[in-house]
Amino acid sequence: MNDNDSPKFTCKECGGHTLIVTHVWSILAGVDSERWQEWGPLKDNHHWQFEFKEKIEDNADDEDQEGDFSEFEEDDSDSGPEDYEIHEPETNLERDEFFVNCGNCDREIEFGWSEPDSRGLILPVEFSDFISSESWPDSKYLGVWQHKHWLRTGEGQS
Ligand SMILES: [Zn+2]
Repeated sequence: MNDNDSPKFTCKECGGHTLIVTHVWSILAGVDSERWQEWGPLKDNHHWQFEFKEKIEDNADDEDQEGDFSEFEEDDSDSGPEDYEIHEPETNLERDEFFVNCGNCDREIEFGWSEPDSRGLILPVEFSDFISSESWPDSKYLGVWQHKHWLRTGEGQS
């Protein structure tokens, strides 16, 4: 309905306006667990709809993903050297994970949520209406946001 509004996201690398949300989760299948993912576009109203779904094969090369993380961090290093790193424990298969990427160049986009614990709406940092004080970081960006002093009071830091 608001298709004529200017897009909230413009990729600083490729100029694309589309964001893709990917949801990754695990299910137990006998003695093994399977990894599945579904993905679809994120709209400017922060809602998204998964349009595709597939099983992630075990022989997929995990090193590709870690490479994407480090590229992203280098890209965002204007505030100083990165003294933090994001490590996703490979053994933690039970937790659902969400990722946001540029739909054109696949660059990872940092994002938060409108509610704590990865609930509510997805709020990409690079959306033009992003307000850090009204967002809760996705768990994989907790350290990054702490570094930026974006964490809200009541975030439960001990
Ligand atoms: Zn892009």
